Amino acid sequence: MIFDVLTLFPGMFEAPLGESIVGKASQRGLIKVRVHNIRDYATGKHLVTDDRPFGGGEGMVMKPDPIMRALDKLQTEQPRPWVILLSPQGRLFKQELAWKLSRLPRLVLICGRYEGVDERVAQYAADDEISIGDYVLTGGELAAMVLIDAVARLIPEVVGNAASIETETFAEPVLEYPQYTRPQEFRSHRVPEVLLSGNHRAIEDWRRGQALLRTKLRRPDLFALTRLSCKDLELLREAEQQLKQAKGSGFDDT
Ligand code: SAH
Repeated sequence: MIFDVLTLFPGMFEAPLGESIVGKASQRGLIKVRVHNIRDYATGKHLVTDDRPFGGGEGMVMKPDPIMRALDKLQTEQPRPWVILLSPQGRLFKQELAWKLSRLPRLVLICGRYEGVDERVAQYAADDEISIGDYVLTGGELAAMVLIDAVARLIPEVVGNAASIETETFAEPVLEYPQYTRPQEFRSHRVPEVLLSGNHRAIEDWRRGQALLRTKLRRPDLFALTRLSCKDLELLREAEQQLKQAKGSGFDDT
């Protein structure tokens, strides 16, 4: 999978994409992230990439021509890319979209800055506009890195244990169960006994109940989309009862 990034700040990408799982995926050739400086495609003595908005108003707008020239060049190369403009006005980036993008061979990610990008880039050059959330960043670079990170880890072999991707949060619209590791007791807080029991069926049931309870309490919007079996309802009731008892005893782990 190839990611071509268009940015005015190429240096921002080095450390975050060079470390850990994504860094290793690059080294192993499973993904390739190529960062292109938009300024290299600017013309004129001052290599200007932004200008004042027509019609007046605050700030600067990124000019269309350097971005379009960069795209012209990238689009002559194979495989044909899917061109994404990062924008707070785009469709929301969710796990389902990450899965869809992970099946494409090549993405171009355009990072805006300042007041944004001349609208003609969105209209005539981009295939897609994507927002990573309902807040405004100073630039598209962090958004592009979030997208690359979420997409890259879905590519086969990038994450060592493929099963961990299938059970985790958002594989279905349910948050993941709470995880614990050693030590068994830390500052007098013990991990739930069932996890130490070695009884795999009981552990699986407990985890399912906890996952459903968390989703119901924290993300009622997702919970409304979850299909519950009779067994699920039973496990959820048990988890709710345990929570009530824990609260009754003055212990609150929510
Ligand atoms: N004035 C614009 C915001 C510009 S923010 C508006 O109101 O719509 C500058 C750049 O940061 C954008 O061009 C975009 O590339 C990036 N950006 C900001 N917030 C983002 C978000 N939530 N998701 C993706 N990109 C974002």
